[in-house]
Amino acid sequence: MLPTVALIGRRNVGKSTLFNRLIRKQKALTHDRPGVTRDRLYAEVPHGEPPFALVDTGGLVLDESDGVEADVFEQAREAMEGAQLILFVVDGRQGVSTIDEQLAAFLRQTDKPVRLVINKVDGAELEDTLSAEFYALGFPLSAVSAAHGYGTLTLQEEIEETLQGLGAVPVEEGEQEDDITLRLALLGRPNVGKSSLINALVGEKRLVVSPEAGTTTDIVDVLFEKKGKRYIFLDSAGVRRRSKIDDSLERFSVLRALRNSKRAQVTVLCLDALQGVVGQDKKLLSFLDREKIPFIVAVNKVDLVPSDRLGQLKKYFENELRFLSHVPRIYTSAVSKAGLGGLLPLTEKLWSECTTRIGTGQLNRGLEDMIGRHQPPVVKHRRAKFYYLTQTGTTPPTFVFFVNDKNLVKPSYARYLEKQLRKRFQLRMTPIQLYFRTSR
Ligand code: GDP
Ligand code: GDP
Repeated sequence: MLPTVALIGRRNVGKSTLFNRLIRKQKALTHDRPGVTRDRLYAEVPHGEPPFALVDTGGLVLDESDGVEADVFEQAREAMEGAQLILFVVDGRQGVSTIDEQLAAFLRQTDKPVRLVINKVDGAELEDTLSAEFYALGFPLSAVSAAHGYGTLTLQEEIEETLQGLGAVPVEEGEQEDDITLRLALLGRPNVGKSSLINALVGEKRLVVSPEAGTTTDIVDVLFEKKGKRYIFLDSAGVRRRSKIDDSLERFSVLRALRNSKRAQVTVLCLDALQGVVGQDKKLLSFLDREKIPFIVAVNKVDLVPSDRLGQLKKYFENELRFLSHVPRIYTSAVSKAGLGGLLPLTEKLWSECTTRIGTGQLNRGLEDMIGRHQPPVVKHRRAKFYYLTQTGTTPPTFVFFVNDKNLVKPSYARYLEKQLRKRFQLRMTPIQLYFRTSR
């Protein structure tokens, strides 16, 4: 059985065009395979490395006027069940539609890797005009033109890399993934001390550490046990500074590094206490934030800071990270082992917040109280009226507020609601996602 890649998306975004492009115009086989519904297109891509099968969810008919109905999700769910990777296709010219948003919320609930494919980007120059909404959907993304072939080779490489990555997680014989307490990714510029931190945590020389930037030679997944719990650190290739490369390519290399974070449950972003927060760090921080990846910040090498300067150092980092007030920070040293004892418990706490589910009853009692305390402001003689609050997903916790008119909810009020949710339901460190939906 070949690994399967499913194309999901609303009508007319170009799924079948992309399908034909990826199978390189070789005639699509529409077979009746067991488990493949007749109205879906199925083709094998034998030249892939590894070879894979592509499924176009042709039956997934979505129309803006239909709204998203239960059976539509049912079809998406069915397509997803058999797939190892989901390509979520959207139209780069139209921006993010309501249905795209709803599908995104739905897809966020799966453990399977999802890649956002922005189609109809008919040339490199159009990539820069892509709206930020696409990034906000929270998936790693590729921009392509299925009709003209722009970006499709890269997309194919990304598909293959993801599939290879899935097969390559070295789970030793007899070991179940379930035994693993937490899958972690360590992210950061070269030389901030990622490999040293792993060594210090694992307690033996598992990685080759070299004083030259970017020389972690042996990139491996590291499996280790601490206090009866099992952790795995996934590959942590540094994000290299690539000053000569233009911006879009650089952005792309950052996306590559972030793929690891998507596979992990929690990411540790490592910063250098002496160097502070530099441009490349800021980029990583805002990507992690935008992609809603649960992460903590480890400010490493604190042993190099004189103890009477520590207060000042913390103040500096707090200020630099103030726009990420929910992200937990920890001050560490791979040399003196300062802070290391707290690192794993912190990642676990974060993950448990990130997977929290809150009952609807509890949420709505909370909602009533939040609104009672602080009424939404009047906007053009009208006031937002909230009907209902529900959690639609986890990782990150995702909430939908049903309201008489979502345009009446101003950003400042949305921020108030977010703060309240975090406070009332112990969601202090995790990314969360709020949606406002107009209803009746
Ligand atoms: P699907 O049914 O949602 O999979 O979409 P189709 O593959 O049928 O494509 C819908 C429309 O979008 C067709 O008119 C295509 O020619 C057009 N289309 C598909 N890909 C591209 C693209 O990359 N660029 C442009 N400009 N149009 C595209
Ligand atoms: P990576 O590229 O992020 O994996 O960084 P390395 O782990 O290879 O570390 C780069 C350099 O920083 C090496 O010379 C390490 O010995 C040094 N280093 C790493 N962590 C610390 C630390 O906490 N304190 C001090 N003083 N040096 C460190």
